[in-house]
Amino acid sequence: MPVSPIVAGVPFDEDGVHHGFLRMPYSRDDSAWGSVLIPITVVRNGEGPTALLTGANHGDEYEGPVALQALAMELKPEEVRGRVIIVPFMNAPAFRAGTRTSPIDRGNLNRSFPGRADGTPTQKIADYFASTLAPMADFVLDFHSGGKTLDFVPFAAAHRLDAKVQEEACIDAMRAFNAPYSMVLLEIDNVGMFDTTVEALGKVFVSTELGGGGTATARSIGIAKKGVRNFLIHAGIHKGDPETAPSIDLDMPDGDCFVFAEHDGLIEPLADLGAPVEKGAEIARVWPVERTGQTPVVYHARRAGLLTARHFPGLVKSGDCLAVTAVVVE
Ligand SMILES: [Zn+2]
Repeated sequence: MPVSPIVAGVPFDEDGVHHGFLRMPYSRDDSAWGSVLIPITVVRNGEGPTALLTGANHGDEYEGPVALQALAMELKPEEVRGRVIIVPFMNAPAFRAGTRTSPIDRGNLNRSFPGRADGTPTQKIADYFASTLAPMADFVLDFHSGGKTLDFVPFAAAHRLDAKVQEEACIDAMRAFNAPYSMVLLEIDNVGMFDTTVEALGKVFVSTELGGGGTATARSIGIAKKGVRNFLIHAGIHKGDPETAPSIDLDMPDGDCFVFAEHDGLIEPLADLGAPVEKGAEIARVWPVERTGQTPVVYHARRAGLLTARHFPGLVKSGDCLAVTAVVVE
């Protein structure tokens, strides 16, 4: 089996705070013996569980990067029992470009797992996380948001798993994160995801969708900062007390939660994020952009629930995810 070319410039088994890089060789026109540097911080204090915290798996999602940059600055070894591995910009080339996928190879990191040690740069990053970092961890938190094309009500998420004991542990950690919404979801497109790889290793895995639109807000960053601390406390790693508030339980049981556009055009939203919608309710019109005097196409919710995600840009293309309705669990 090929060995990963990625080298960690930080020690994983020394106490204290260590800032450094994962260095991936990347020879190219403008840098013959060049590298891609992925910043990493390891905070360790003696024996205990390990948490792996990741942001910018997709390069245009910002709550994770901000919260993890702040945590890497602030977290002190004396606050910790065990180890915290912080990678704010997992797909660093995509993050630096401000794009979902890598500008090097167009790789979508969260569809590239388990990756290849001898593959493209994005596949090499996936392989390193799958084969080196994730196996070290007991708890993994991977921050996501909607990126430039989606916007979400802020939720932490755990997946439905065949392994029920593990599923319960993931749901407990998701609840501990304590986002305003807590989602249990059946993934519709789980092949190649970091989530799937980490879950297959038997780890406790939590992801988030905290906002979107290619930016972050004071509120969404506050949710991320509070959530990551709560997650570490739940893991038995951070010694502080959790900060909790009411959270609304959501469920995405099947594909009827999704509404996909079948036309190109101009979106007129008829419901906003967080709004309750009935099954069959009109949620958006898509107006033609070529001419006036034509009726818009009306899109309907395929199940009752709460409008949980929406297409963010004002123009939509056929095949885009237009909206997501999740079921509110009473
Ligand atoms: Zn994402």
